[in-house]
Amino acid sequence: MLLFIYGLPGSGKGTQSELIKKEFNFIHLSTGDLIRDIINNKRKGWEELNGYVANGQLVPDDIINELFFMSLNEKGIDKNYIIDGYPRNLNQLNLIIAKLKNLTGIEVMHLYIRCDEEKIIKRITSRRICENCGAIFNIELDKDIQNCKFCGAKLYQRVDDQYSVIKKRIDEYKIKTLPVINRLKEENLLIEIDGDREVNNIFMDIILILKGKVK
Ligand SMILES: [Zn+2]
Repeated sequence: MLLFIYGLPGSGKGTQSELIKKEFNFIHLSTGDLIRDIINNKRKGWEELNGYVANGQLVPDDIINELFFMSLNEKGIDKNYIIDGYPRNLNQLNLIIAKLKNLTGIEVMHLYIRCDEEKIIKRITSRRICENCGAIFNIELDKDIQNCKFCGAKLYQRVDDQYSVIKKRIDEYKIKTLPVINRLKEENLLIEIDGDREVNNIFMDIILILKGKVK
């Protein structure tokens, strides 16, 4: 099975991917890792990848697509894969769909963890971390908190949790990847899950969806 998982930055799709991997027998496939592997191993036939990465350019969609399916073939097309962060745009989705037309017997699932943008922003920007023990707090839930409840050290906000950073990532996702989600929805290929809930409740729904479908 190919399980593509989607969600706005901060939707918790990374956490759910980890849980899915543990509960079922899934291999995590990341196009970023595939590109790094090729470059580090200096694989023949892929020299042009070096140029894009060395110059800080985006690797063209058709090359990523080729790389993705080559890796699937090498690892074994009959296994279960979870893919997070790909396809990132409509062109990548179209290339994947075109390739899948020639492959029979593969179950494909597109899972979208749907979250309210404002709730994500509120949750992320309220997060504070202890600079000593790493404990995580939420200043919305713990309004008077000044120092770590466990060790008394100062709390800080990670750069990634700042409003401008998370807002920018969400906006980018909306521009590039929301069209993918809308297209899948139009074609009745999208399974949506309410992501504005506790991690475990979301995961329970995912288990119900995957049970019986995963080899
Ligand atoms: Zn602490």
